[in-house]
Amino acid sequence: MPYFDVAIVGAGAAGLFCAAQAGQRGLKVLLLDHASRVAEKIRISGGGRCNFTNRHLDSRTGHQHYLGQNPQFARSALSRFTPQNFIALVQQNGIAFHEKHKGQLFADHSAQDIIAMLLDACDLAGVQRWQPCTIEKIEAGNTASRYRLHTARGIVQAHNLVVATGGLSIPKIGATDLGYRIAKQFGLPVTAQRPGLVPLRFAGEDWAPYASLAGLALPVRIHTGAKKQGIAFDGDLLFTHRGLSGPAILQISSYWQPGQRLRIDLLPQLDVAAALQEAKATSKKLLPNVLAQWLPTRLADAWCQRHSAWQGPVNQCSDKALAQLADTLSGWQLTPSGTEGYAKAEVTVGGIDTRALSQQSMEAKNQPGLFFIGEVVDITGWLGGYNFQWAWASAHACAQALEAPPT
Ligand SMILES: Cc1cc2nc3c(=O)[nH]c(=O)nc-3n(C[C@H](O)[C@H](O)[C@H](O)COP(=O)(O)OP(=O)(O)OC[C@H]3O[C@@H](n4cnc5c(N)ncnc54)[C@H](O)[C@@H]3O)c2cc1C
Repeated sequence: MPYFDVAIVGAGAAGLFCAAQAGQRGLKVLLLDHASRVAEKIRISGGGRCNFTNRHLDSRTGHQHYLGQNPQFARSALSRFTPQNFIALVQQNGIAFHEKHKGQLFADHSAQDIIAMLLDACDLAGVQRWQPCTIEKIEAGNTASRYRLHTARGIVQAHNLVVATGGLSIPKIGATDLGYRIAKQFGLPVTAQRPGLVPLRFAGEDWAPYASLAGLALPVRIHTGAKKQGIAFDGDLLFTHRGLSGPAILQISSYWQPGQRLRIDLLPQLDVAAALQEAKATSKKLLPNVLAQWLPTRLADAWCQRHSAWQGPVNQCSDKALAQLADTLSGWQLTPSGTEGYAKAEVTVGGIDTRALSQQSMEAKNQPGLFFIGEVVDITGWLGGYNFQWAWASAHACAQALEAPPT
C-alpha cells in the first residue's frame, strides 16, 4: 500500500500551495483532486486574470477584511505569510502584474500564469498528483500512518491529511461538501454555510420599475444591518435582469441575512437635498432631467416614475416633495428576495468552526495530523484578492507545521 507523509485533498489554490511548500521541506506529498482540470477557480478568477492578493492587507489588521464567527483566527496565518511574500514569488517567476484599484493585484496576461507557477513548484518539490481521482472513504489508521484513503486509484496511507476542498460555490466546476463531511466524521463542528460574494435577487411590484434597467451601472454606498453592527461598502452597483450585482452588492451580500433590508445611497458624493434646492432656484428643467445630471438617464426616468410630484418642472415642485426625493435617493430601502445561490457565488460563508483548529498550524485540536486550509474553513474574505491571500496564508501555516513520523 503506497505511503505518504502528507495526503492533500483538493488541488485548488490552498492545496497546490501547501503541497509545493510541504514537498520543499522534504516531505513525501500526494495531492488528490476529483476534477479533471486543475485549479479551475484560479483560472476563472478575476475575469481570467486572477486577483491573486491585495496589497492593502495589513498583517496587524488584516482580519478586518474577513468574516466568520471569529475573523481574528486568521491573524496569525495572515501575519506570517503576507501579500508581499506572495508578490515576491510572482516576481521571482517573472509574472507581470498590475494594480487595478483598492490594492487589488491581477496578472497582466492570464490566471494561467499563476496556475503554472504553482504546478511548477509542485513538480520541483516532487509532489505526486492524482487527478482526476475520487476519494471514496477516509479512515483513521495507526500511529505511523494515521490516515487511510480509499481512492479510485487504490488505498493509500498517510501520516497527515490536509483538507483543502474549498467551499460550495460553482458546483459545476467541482465544488463539493467533502471537507465538511470529513470534519464531521472526525468530530469537528462546522458552522452553517451560505453563498457569499453573490448577486442579489429582487421580485414583486416594488422591483418592477427597475427590471428594465439591466446593464446599467453606477457608484453607490450600500449599508445593511442595524446601525451599530451594520456594515457599509462603497463601489459600483450593476442592475441585472433579476436584481443587483457589481462589487458593492457582492461585498454586502456576504453580510446580508434573509429578510434583512439594504439601504443604498445612489449619490454618495452629493448633498442631494441642497443640490435639488439649488436646481429649484435656478432651473425650470423637468425633475428627471435634473436627476440625469447626476444619475444615468434611464435610472433618473425610472426613479421619477415612482411619484407624480417628481415628474414636473423642478421650480414647481414643493419643498416637501423635493425633500422626499432627496431622502429616497440617498436612502433607497429595499429587501432582496434571495441570492443567486452557489451557482453564481464566488465564495461560501461558513465552514469548519475555527474553535476546533489551531490558528498556528490549522491542525484539528482533537485529531492529530488532520488539517483544514483555505475556503473550507469558516474564514471568508472580502472581494479584492483577500480570499486567495487566505488560501496562500493558511496553506503556508499548515505546510510549516507538517511533520513526517518519527523514525
Ligand atoms: C468566479 C470566481 C472568481 C473568483 N475570483 C477571485 C479573485 O479574483 N480573487 C480572490 O481572492 N478570490 C477569488 N475567488 C475566490 C477564490 O477562488 C477561492 O476563495 C479560492 O479558490 C479558495 O481556494 P481553496 O483552495 O480553498 O478552494 P478551491 O480553489 O475551490 O479548490 C478546492 C479544490 O478541491 C477540489 N474538491 C472539491 N471537492 C472534492 C472532492 N469531493 N474530492 C476531491 N477533490 C475535491 C475541487 O475540485 C478544487 O480543485 C473567486 C471565486 C469564483 C468562483
